[in-house]
Amino acid sequence: RDTAIGAVAVAAGLCQRVRAGLIERGRGDGTGVVAKADQSPVTVADFGSQAVICRTLEASFPGDPVIGEEDSAELRRPDAADLLKKVVGFVREVSKGVAIPVDAGAVRGWIDRGGARSYHERFWTLDPIDGTKGFLRGEQYAVALALIEAGRPVVAALACPNLPPTAGAGEADPSSAGAIFFAVRGEGAWVLPTGNDLDPRKAARITVGSSDDPALGRFCESVESGHSAHGDSARIAEALGIVAPPVRLDSQAKYAVVARGEADIYLRMPTKKDYREAIWDHAAGALIVSEAGGIVSDIDGRPLDFTRGPRLEANRGVVVANPRWHSRVIAAIARLGLASA
Ligand code: AMP
Ligand code: MG
Repeated sequence: RDTAIGAVAVAAGLCQRVRAGLIERGRGDGTGVVAKADQSPVTVADFGSQAVICRTLEASFPGDPVIGEEDSAELRRPDAADLLKKVVGFVREVSKGVAIPVDAGAVRGWIDRGGARSYHERFWTLDPIDGTKGFLRGEQYAVALALIEAGRPVVAALACPNLPPTAGAGEADPSSAGAIFFAVRGEGAWVLPTGNDLDPRKAARITVGSSDDPALGRFCESVESGHSAHGDSARIAEALGIVAPPVRLDSQAKYAVVARGEADIYLRMPTKKDYREAIWDHAAGALIVSEAGGIVSDIDGRPLDFTRGPRLEANRGVVVANPRWHSRVIAAIARLGLASA
């Protein structure tokens, strides 16, 4: 737990430094954004975040495989020299007190420590920047790390640098801290403000909401309509009698807002028949919500199966809710003919 919290905190600090640079220089120039084969934006921060987290995991748990989102293939291309230089620079900036020299070879090696792709009895899964599009827009994003044992997330750390540590804080003043959520199976879900003091004993416990009143019901979903079918979720909300418009935010920050009762439901309705969710998009958030008293399943009500490798091959979509809502949501999905079975 403490290793995971420390790792995501350092990575989040790196991301915020990169972010500050993006604002200074403007998007048009030197943002370090390159298009991956799948066209999703990937930045200096993705690589830097994965490098510092995998370095920490390697030092503390050298035998543990890591299934991370990124690999260093992009960085090995001859035209990526500039990008690699930037990544190394940012990793150096957050490496005070680290004994191992930070150079290009070391950084690529750490990134590739996250390149495991097959299931193990015990492994970590990492999304170095979940919600890259939110990061680029200056909105929500997360650094998500989870330890999985016997197919179940058992430790989770989720840094949300742009989410206020206290629920309902509204528009955060830009100088205020972000939030680090964490959980250990059986020990509840907790939140700490980002900053220097990461003592887990000072964390605040969080729990899901307890209202089942549709008039007060709130659901959240992706900003990106390509990641979650907004039309389907609108129909589900209507069927449930929910009147509030959806709260749209990027990344596993959605799990965090359900975990602390700011929203009752997180809907991720499939947009493509064949898409399978990545484990790094869900493992950390799922444990935090479960430990906060919520229920996490796919759109058919089945538990998420983390034994299939990098993707949730046995599941489609995701439904996260407090226990008063969850079964009603699953029933509505079935009734509307939106279930996969
Ligand atoms: P969000 O911020 O909730 O929109 O989710 C961001 C994540 O969506 C990324 O990390 C991708 O792994 C994932 N993603 C990419 N394409 C899809 C898709 N078609 N359906 C669901 N998720 C996707
Ligand atoms: Mg992601």
